[in-house]
Amino acid sequence: MNPSESFRCRICRGPVWQFLDLGRQPISDAFRTAGDTDPEFFFDLAVGRCAACTMIQLTNAVPRERMFHAGYPYLSSGSAVMREHFARTAASFLETELRDDGSFVIEIGCNDGVMLGMIAEAGRRHLGVEPSAGVARIAEDAEVRVRVAFFEESTARDIVATEGRADLAYSANTICHIPYLDSVFRGLDAVLKPSGIFVFEDPYFGDIVAKTSYDQIYDEHFYYFTVRSVREMVRRFGFELVDVAPLAVHGGELRYTVARAGQRTVTPAVAEWLAAEERAGLAEAITCSRFAANVGANRRALRGLLERLHEAGHSVAGYGATAKSATVTNFVGITPELVSYVCDSTPAKQGRLTPGAHLPVLSPERFREPYPDYALLFAWNHAEEIMAKEHEFRDHGGRWITYVPDVAIR
Ligand SMILES: [Zn+2]
Repeated sequence: MNPSESFRCRICRGPVWQFLDLGRQPISDAFRTAGDTDPEFFFDLAVGRCAACTMIQLTNAVPRERMFHAGYPYLSSGSAVMREHFARTAASFLETELRDDGSFVIEIGCNDGVMLGMIAEAGRRHLGVEPSAGVARIAEDAEVRVRVAFFEESTARDIVATEGRADLAYSANTICHIPYLDSVFRGLDAVLKPSGIFVFEDPYFGDIVAKTSYDQIYDEHFYYFTVRSVREMVRRFGFELVDVAPLAVHGGELRYTVARAGQRTVTPAVAEWLAAEERAGLAEAITCSRFAANVGANRRALRGLLERLHEAGHSVAGYGATAKSATVTNFVGITPELVSYVCDSTPAKQGRLTPGAHLPVLSPERFREPYPDYALLFAWNHAEEIMAKEHEFRDHGGRWITYVPDVAIR
């Protein structure tokens, strides 16, 4: 392990020790057009652990405007599983925190408004805060109120002045994106009513370690939370972690519920998760080192398999030009020779090249024209949905390659 001497924890200013280096990486959503001449932006993707508060974090932050801009292509509503997830979430909020007609919810990073649209339909006051203007426009078209901005203390104070305080703040797959969480929590303190709560959900470091899913590590994911590090973090900002619940989305996430200290009863789940993390040694340096060794072994296995298939003359395509796949393609060194193209259902990605590795992106309709011999499943977190949709691929003799938790042919 090399100490990253110049790097201090973004939460507590403690020393951060780097334990995993994923090499030079592009912006994970910066798809290229063939013939682009402007130089591609690369940065060093590496992960460290704070020796003081145990927060796992990147050792380099990419400027936020490079990632979250008008052309940000990810749509929260892009998968049926995610649409159902957000429908359940909205229904549960309407039964609890948003029961009263006058209640008010804000969502940090509301994306295309998939969750808030259901709140709007129920007639509740709501406001999304979303810096990526393109996806925000989709939300507005669906009658969702959106402010195009990064959520920080000044944004929150503006909201209080014009809209009043909120009963609930919610954020899915966004809080882990934000290095400056001190400003975010000061903003939450300003915008929430005294009894208000903040509910957020993000990938869980415990799942990443258990599955060796190192592709969860990319530019947008600055933090990799554990229950222990979240509890410590929110405490610094005057809040208390009052509930933790597992979610079976995006490869394993936790939903954290946070209230002002003393305002809500802490559920037994918090102590149970903390005890489980301690038994597993999850936040320990030795676990981080072991994880890094597993990542190296996974890379060698995937690279070796793709080279053997290439030498044997087999065709291999990718499935899902996800942000996660940028880490894998660039870390493993996957060239168009090894994987000829990637199918993806996002129109904005089709006809373009993946970041860094420059694999051509085609529509899923092209997958069958003709089927490749093997398909490398980059969108492994949607494996069931995709394998069901593409069941004819296996009927035609095709085989899926997965690399989470191990490299395997299915
Ligand atoms: Zn720290």
